[in-house]
Amino acid sequence: MSGSKVAIVTGANKGLGFALVKGLCEKFEGTVYLTSRDEKRGNDACKELIEMGFKPRFHQLDVTDPDSIARFCVYMKNKHGFVDLIINNAGILFLKDAQEPKLYQAEQTLFVNFFALVNFCEAIIPTVRDGGKIINISSSSGHLSRIPSEELRKKLQNTEMTVEGLKSLMNSYVNAVKVNKEIEIGWGDSPYVVSKVGVNAYTFMLNRRLVNRGITVNCVHPGYVKSDMTRGGGDRSASQGAVEPLKLALEDHPGGLYVWQDGQVVPWDGPDPRGYIDGKKL
Ligand code: NAP
Repeated sequence: MSGSKVAIVTGANKGLGFALVKGLCEKFEGTVYLTSRDEKRGNDACKELIEMGFKPRFHQLDVTDPDSIARFCVYMKNKHGFVDLIINNAGILFLKDAQEPKLYQAEQTLFVNFFALVNFCEAIIPTVRDGGKIINISSSSGHLSRIPSEELRKKLQNTEMTVEGLKSLMNSYVNAVKVNKEIEIGWGDSPYVVSKVGVNAYTFMLNRRLVNRGITVNCVHPGYVKSDMTRGGGDRSASQGAVEPLKLALEDHPGGLYVWQDGQVVPWDGPDPRGYIDGKKL
């Protein structure tokens, strides 16, 4: 077992995750794991960084696969005994022109962005060292104001809610989509929004739960990043998007923050801080 610190980034074979691993390789004092669901894509990405002179390690991790999560957690426990930093970055988005049925989009988006993130966190938390950090890559879409129903917003903010309660609330959204009632109930029309609002709710819940162990949990909106997810759209590179998550990872910060791409700490339950939506001024 090594004595130095250990960091993990999920979904790191490309895009923001790759930029996060590169940034950690530059400045994190310890071992950095690039993880990806596909071995070849992950190893190729590692090779690219090694050719740049960095020393990332690779391990397969598909956050939607319980066996893959279990293998990864056992490996970390046996190899290092602990983990100090986790950046939950893996995620998906169906763009507006996606042809897949609405229910499929809702199930997949919630499955990868919310349920898989929660399941991975719950599995790795016992291995996170006291004083460690968990950073969830969220989005401007994770702002609470994006959920139209006041009743749902109140439920999402309930500080007494358990992780099972939150999972059940997120499942109720998928069930609403099944009967075509999600808009009527007040979830809005975007599975991505619901998934990232769920990620934020989990962030604050987990931060409260882990405060006694000195573990901080924060979430961050990286900005509109040029990547495969945005089909190359966006107004910033992946390395620019990585700046604020890396600050959270490398500097001392309290937990329970929702940080935006300009470093601003945004109140999750405050007014919608976006200046523009789809290019139109609000
Ligand atoms: P990206 O280039 O599409 O990368 C997404 C990464 O997630 C890929 O490595 C992908 O792996 C991985 N992934 C997907 N499903 C996975 C699974 N089941 N297990 C493990 N990894 C999985 O997207 P990106 O723009 O870098 O996005 C990274 C994060 O930033 C996401 O959480 C996204 O929601 C968030 N974000 C992005 C933007 C933006 O403008 N791009 C804005 C706000 C927030 P494969 O290559 O194998 O598919």
